Formats: sequence, C-alpha cells, structure tokens
Amino acid sequence: MSRCKNNAVKKLKSSPIEQPVYILVEKFPLHLNPEQITLARNLQMEAAKVWNATCNIHRTVYGRYHYWLKEGALKSLLKGKYGIHSQSVQAVVETYYECCERTRELHAQGGADWKYPYRRKRFFTVIWKEPGIARMGRILRLSNGRGREPLIVKLPERLVGTAIHQAQLVWHRNQYWLHVTVEKPALIKVRGDVTAAIDPGEVHAVTITGGNDALVISGRLLRSFNRLRNKGLRKFQRAISKTKKGSRKRKRLLVKKYRFLNWLERRLAHILHTISANTARWCLQRNVNTVYIGNPEGVRKKDCGRKHNQRMGQWAFGKLRGLLEYKLKRHGIELIPVDECGTSGTCPVCGEYTKQTGRVYRCGNASCGFTGIHRDVLGASGILDKSVNGGFTKGRKLPVTVDYLRPKVLAPKRAA
Ligand SMILES: [Zn+2]
Repeated sequence: MSRCKNNAVKKLKSSPIEQPVYILVEKFPLHLNPEQITLARNLQMEAAKVWNATCNIHRTVYGRYHYWLKEGALKSLLKGKYGIHSQSVQAVVETYYECCERTRELHAQGGADWKYPYRRKRFFTVIWKEPGIARMGRILRLSNGRGREPLIVKLPERLVGTAIHQAQLVWHRNQYWLHVTVEKPALIKVRGDVTAAIDPGEVHAVTITGGNDALVISGRLLRSFNRLRNKGLRKFQRAISKTKKGSRKRKRLLVKKYRFLNWLERRLAHILHTISANTARWCLQRNVNTVYIGNPEGVRKKDCGRKHNQRMGQWAFGKLRGLLEYKLKRHGIELIPVDECGTSGTCPVCGEYTKQTGRVYRCGNASCGFTGIHRDVLGASGILDKSVNGGFTKGRKLPVTVDYLRPKVLAPKRAA
C-alpha cells in the first residue's frame, strides 16, 4: 500500500549530509471520530481527482500531439486546483510517474502483461511531505493547505521523538491507517566474518546455525493462529452467506469479521517481528556477517492435498524473510537466499539421501544408520555446508548445543 515510499529514500540520497540513519515505514491504525472520517474520505477523493487528472492529461496530450508530458509540466498544470496540500498534489503526480517508470522497466524485462496506469479511481492514498507535517509531542497535524481543515491524529508512543519524513493515509480492511516514513538511528554493525545458515520451516519457523551451536525458534504459535483464522473465517462466511445483501445484519457481521481479521493480523505480525528480532540478536552476538537462507519455493508449489496446501499457502515465509532481511541489514549483515534442495535429507556421515518423515534425522543407509540429530538443525547445517563448500562434505561437524525458543504473545495494546 505504501506506494510512494521510494520518494523519501530518493530524497535522502540527494541530500548533502551523509548520516548513518535508516528510513523505515511504520504503520498504525487510526481511531478517528465521525467528522475526521468524513474529512479523511474527502481527502482521499480529492487525491483521486488529482490522479485521474494526471492520467487524463498525460494520455490526452500524447493522443493529440504525440508527446509525453514531463513530470514538472504536469505539476505546474495541476498547481493550486485541489483541496489538498500543494506538496500532496505533487506527491500524487510523482507516484504516477514512478508507476510509469516501473512499468517501462518491467516491459523492458519482458513482462508485457503490465499495464501503464489508466484506471479511474474514486479514492487514492493521500501523501503528506515534510512541509505539510507539524507535530506537538504526540499530536501530528497534517495540513491540507491554507484555510482548510487539517487532519489531526495521535502518534503511538513508540514514534515519539523520531523524525518523520512522510505520512500516508491508507484505507486498510475497514479503517484508516497511517503509514509514516521515519528516520531511525543506525544500529551497531557486526565486526566479524562468521557465516551462518537458516533453514526456514513451518513447524520450526527459523533454525539457524553457525556450525558450533544452533537456535531453533518454534513456529507453532503462528500455525495455531492460522488455524484459528481459518476456523473463524469459516464461521463468519457461513453466517454472512445467510443474510441479504445490504441488510443491517450483514453489515454488523462484516464489521465483526474485519475486527477479527485485524486482531489476528496484528498478532501474527508481532510474532513474525519477535522471531526475526531474536534471529538478528543471535547473529549479532556471534559476529555473523553473512547468512544463507534456504528458499522453500519448491516445497510450497508441490501439490500435497487440500489441507497441506492450505497450510503451505499460509506459511508466511516471504514476510518473515522480508523482516529478517531489513533487520539484519541494519546490523550490516547480508542475507543470501540459496537453493535448499536435499539439505535436510542428506546424511552428514555417509552422504546418502533419505527422505525424512520424523522430526529426528534417520539415515536410510543400512551400513551407516546415523541418527540422533534434529532434522531442521541438520537442514540448516546442510545449507551452510552447501553454500560455503559448494557441496556436501562427508563426516562434517555438526552443531553441539541446540537452543529452543518460543515466541510469546503480548497483551493487546491499542496504538494511537
Ligand atoms: Zn548415513
């Protein structure tokens, strides 16, 4: 949803002062009163008008004069005509050109299915840039130009005192959210050259090893929340299907459904953050500077029946990897995806491959019969071996100590 987040990064690059700061996007839901909701809605409709106008003018000018209008020209054409902050109008135009540029790149790479922006919008994400943002403590005042009512929101406590570069008003599910681009201080960089490997999994979300010891973080909580989600959704869907379209009963049920989904989504995000933060801390303590992560795409695409497929589809691997990547990057650690083919089935002693069914590794070679190590730990160790040495080493050293960790759920907290 954060369409324009590249803007802030671009701006930082061109600024003369090179400071070790990180630009991150923080998201939080807004609890608005009815008047504020009307205002937010009108602002989004106004932003949509800018988008539609940009799209129309850009295409019409080309149709008549065979000339693609430049960004600056469009900005000056639309200046002062809309009920949002002048910088917000410019941000919409910038987003439009960013879209065009991205589409052009994709076309050049051979993705002919991507379309240049053409659709008319009723609502569009409103973006405030620095000149439109003022703050007093926890209160954020988002200006909509002189003489117009500003949008006033409260910041969550974690964002007090951080520099805000940009804010975006986003509609997500059933309420408005604010995505703020904030500046965060740089963190301690690792000063080592240890290599580690991660075996991501569904039962054990992360198994990481550096050769001597290993950490296993359970993914069972994630799994149980996914199960709860499926169960709850089924219940709601069944009840909703019995009601008439547009009826009061249906509306009430929809509100309940979205409240449930939002609750779960935030809980899941919290667990994923905990898992990735623990992994990053583990790496920092051991001076790890390169981490290889197994890519389970092959496992997920395999068809193994309805139930298993649903579980694989809901396995939030991409999300976890994204979080890991940026958390490790802040410490100067590189995350490299590698093919994990055969890593958890190849015997560390004799090198033969056996398909695994249990949690504890068992070698199928009758003359070897090696067993006694956790399958995922062996998988991580295999990924490490394969990535560092280019293949499996017979009789390689295995992690001696293995720690187990379970992410906890904190009590729900109302943000903003
Ligand atoms: Zn063996």
